[in-house]
This record gives sequence, structure tokens and C-alpha cells, in this order.
Amino acid sequence: MKFETKCVQAGWEPKNGEPRVMPIYQSTTFKFDSAQHVADLFDLKAPGHFYTRLSNPTLDAVEQRIAALEGGVGAMLTSAGQAASMIAILNLAHSGDHVISASTIYGGTVNLFGVTLQKLGIEFTWLSPDATDEEIETAIRPNTKAIFGETLANPALAVLDLERWANVAHRNGLPLIIDNTFPTPYLCRPFEFGVDVVIHATTKYMDGHAMSLGGCIVDSGNFDWAASGRFPEFTNPDPSYHGLVYTEAFGKAAYIVKARAQLMRDMGAQAAPLNAFLLGVGIETLPLRMERHSANAQVVAEWLANNPKVEWVRYPGLKGDAYHELAKKYLPKGSAGVVTFGVKGTRKDAQRLMDAMKLAAIVVHVADARTCVLHPASMTHRQLTDEQLVAAGISPTTIRYSVGIEHIDDIIADLEQAFAQI
Ligand SMILES: *Cc1c(COP(=O)(O)O)cnc(C)c1O
Repeated sequence: MKFETKCVQAGWEPKNGEPRVMPIYQSTTFKFDSAQHVADLFDLKAPGHFYTRLSNPTLDAVEQRIAALEGGVGAMLTSAGQAASMIAILNLAHSGDHVISASTIYGGTVNLFGVTLQKLGIEFTWLSPDATDEEIETAIRPNTKAIFGETLANPALAVLDLERWANVAHRNGLPLIIDNTFPTPYLCRPFEFGVDVVIHATTKYMDGHAMSLGGCIVDSGNFDWAASGRFPEFTNPDPSYHGLVYTEAFGKAAYIVKARAQLMRDMGAQAAPLNAFLLGVGIETLPLRMERHSANAQVVAEWLANNPKVEWVRYPGLKGDAYHELAKKYLPKGSAGVVTFGVKGTRKDAQRLMDAMKLAAIVVHVADARTCVLHPASMTHRQLTDEQLVAAGISPTTIRYSVGIEHIDDIIADLEQAFAQI
């Protein structure tokens, strides 16, 4: 099946007389005829659902759909994008370990890694997305467990050279984990470039309607945990599962099964069935929406680039953008709907421009069907130090403008009237 077909068909294939639309299994638990059957489920010897903290049929259908879209062997939904990033790292690294991350990542992830996971004893090294192979290699230590980055960084819009980073990671026995939230698998499928694990804040384009928080981890199944030699937790018996060895019992799906069996079991950051249902509906129109978001954003970026009140525009789809060449390789169908730009003037001028917008709403969100706008320095990235702001590619006058799927004439008219007021 082609991508568009999978968006509406994958994950739910009703049999004779079953509901056409995947139902919401709004149930914490499931009923069984024998205690032995449940014992086998607990031992991961039999497939099936027994408690929604671990799995649920509605979640399962959406997980299968997303795994099919990314081309992975398995996926796990989480309560939010943050939980996906957290579990993706904790599944590999613990106290005393080290992880390398691109510095141009979502502000919430910077805090999660640099504050909370650091407190748990995991050390992070931050590298520019443009770091050379040698710079990446120099940062790798004997206790390094993963390299992390974003395909299209929020909000810096830096495009990571996935293939190059994956090659460096693999040469050193490390997996590359990529947050693919902004492109979605419609615009970029990181596994095709050697990425090992993909995470999503499905809260954004995958849901697409600003209805439900959610996250997802997708396992490519391609990383060889045993050959790497860095991951004894994958190859040694797990005492919390009667001595189960993940690489032996689950082969290519070792990473995603371990994430669920250990971390979802213990942390309970599970998605709600209703949210999974809404996500599944959102994904059905993903290709149509991403096409429109990208086409509209291209026009907005070009309009801003020709506006004398704008100091700079960043959009990888723009000719001359620092990441245009990488975008041609990784985002050939479009660069999604987010455009960042700097207003000439001060932080105040940026805020005045936003206040003057009528169609574009000031919201702490991005990647919605409705056009919205945000000021990172005073909102999402408020907790970052000035130094971290610069590293994340943000200045006091940076505006993150998320182009929706409205008619482009209305979007441009709103920008025109707002700019006329400053
Ligand atoms: C929003 C976002 C997250 C966090 O997702 P939540 O659902 O808000 O927890 C992570 N990564 C990126 C790129 C995001 O845009």
C-alpha cells in the first residue's frame, strides 16, 4: 500500500460484521476465562491485552498505523511527546551514562534532558546540528548510549543531515534517535536514511487539530543491540521479567518491547484510548494537510522574505536558506508549515505585531490546522538561558508562525494588515 492508503487503512482491518471505524476501547482491563492465560500474558509469552497501562486495542491499532507509515517494526503511544522522548532515552541510558544531543531541539526536550534526566545521573553533550563528523566522534565516550536530534528543529528549523549523523553513530556502535514531529512521515521517513528510532509529539501535525496531547516511539528494528556491545540490558536476563532476554525473545522488536515491558509498566505514561482514537482520525488526512501546510508556508515565507519590516526569515523551502540544500534531500515534498522570522526592532515590536494579527491566533501550540503564532523567547523557550537560546537558534525578536490550512489569500491578508500596524 502507498502512504496515503496506509493513512486510512493500516492498523484496523475489521472482519465480517465488525465496526467499520475502530472503536474506542474505553476499558482499563480485559476479561479472561483462565488464570493461566493471564499468567502467560504477564510473562510476555502470549500476545494480547490485559491492562490498559501496558496495551489497549485502540492504542494498538494506531500504533500499527504509525509503525506502517514510518516503516518500523513496532510503535508505542505515550501520553505526550515529552513522555516519548523520556522513555526513548531511559530505555537505553541510566545513571552514569551519557547521551549526545543536537542543541537545536524543542525547548521542552532541552529541559527534560538538561535538567530532569541530568538530575537522574544521565549526562548530556550538546552539539550544533552542523557539527562535523570529527566533532561528533570526539564527543563520544565509552559510556555514551545514544545520539539524539530533530529532523526539522522546532523552532530553529535546522535540518539535520540524518544520513551523516547515522553513519557516525553506527561507526561507534550507537543508535540515532530522531524526533520527527515537524516533517511527519509524510514529508520525511528517517528510517530510510539509517535512523534507528523515531519519536513524535503526535500533539502536532499527526493529530493536526490541536485536540489531544500524545507521543509515539517507533522502532526501525534495524539496530543490532547485541553487536554494539554497549547495551547489556538488552542481552542479559531481565530479573523483573523472570530472566527474559529481550534480543533473544523479541529479535528486531527488542527495543520497543523493552520500552513497553519495563518503562511503560513502571511509569504509566500511557495514552488515553479516546486520545488515540482522535489521533487515528487525524492521521487519515495527514497527507492532504501536510501538502497544504507546506504549500501555504512556502508562499508565506516568500512574502516575508520580500517584506522590508522583516529582518530575516528561516524556512528550509526558501532558496538561499542555510538548510535549503539539506531540505532538498530530506524534505523533497515540502518543509511543513512552520516559518520563523525576526521582526526589525525589539522584543516589543515582535509582540505588537503578534497582537495585531486577527486570523493567526496567539497560542502555545504549533502545527495546527488553524494558523497560529508564538513568541519563543517569552513562551516555549522562556526557561532557557540566553546562551541556550542562541544555541537553539532563537533571538528576542524571533516569531514562530505556524501556517494553517486556510486559504492562502486570507493568511496573507492578515499578515498585510498586521504589518501595516507596526
Ligand atoms: C511539542 C513538541 C514536543 C513535546 O510534545 P508534547 O506533546 O507537548 O509533550 C517534542 N518535540 C517537538 C519537536 C515538539 O514540537
